[in-house]
Amino acid sequence: MQNIFNNLFKSLVHVFLPVSCPVCGELGEALCDKCAESLLEPLKFEYNNFDVYAGAFYEDEIRQVILNLKYKGLRAAGKILGLKLADLFERPDIDLLIPVPLHKSSRRYYNQAYEIASGLGDKWHIKVDNSLCSWRHIVAHHAGMSKSEREELTPQAFKVDNKIKNFKAALVDDICTTGATLKCLAQACINAGAEVKSAYVVAKA
Ligand SMILES: [Zn+2]
Repeated sequence: MQNIFNNLFKSLVHVFLPVSCPVCGELGEALCDKCAESLLEPLKFEYNNFDVYAGAFYEDEIRQVILNLKYKGLRAAGKILGLKLADLFERPDIDLLIPVPLHKSSRRYYNQAYEIASGLGDKWHIKVDNSLCSWRHIVAHHAGMSKSEREELTPQAFKVDNKIKNFKAALVDDICTTGATLKCLAQACINAGAEVKSAYVVAKA
């Protein structure tokens, strides 16, 4: 119950506080066009037959923007980042975008990966579905996981709805660190009958 009130309070605060670009301070923008464009460049990383497309290295200003998106309620920056990310890469030949689900233990009232995916989906005209994948258990929070813990992740960590069968999908997340989460989720989707060969992230850590 307390969580509901907390979340309600947070959403109200963000409705009434003036928004400004976290990089240049321009009022009225969760992330202004100029800053979004200057922060992003097309990058590609390969993890044995799995491609991760990223818009930046996780450092400096983009790191600040992502931290604001995740922890300071700058929800609108997610969609803007997704729209800009879509401009960097050719539209993939897929019919579904899957945001990495929010951890069950997360207290965030929105999923930043979904916000980013919705920008990509709008620009590319690809369906985004937030309901097909979830974490099976309460897993230690991402940022608090060590490299070796993340490497121990298995596809069984995710529950994937059979409705995903026969879709050609790409995954979406805010940050890719070791690629372990993305690869495990991709494998879980593949096990459920989908084709998943790539992921789009804002930044590579
Ligand atoms: Zn700006």
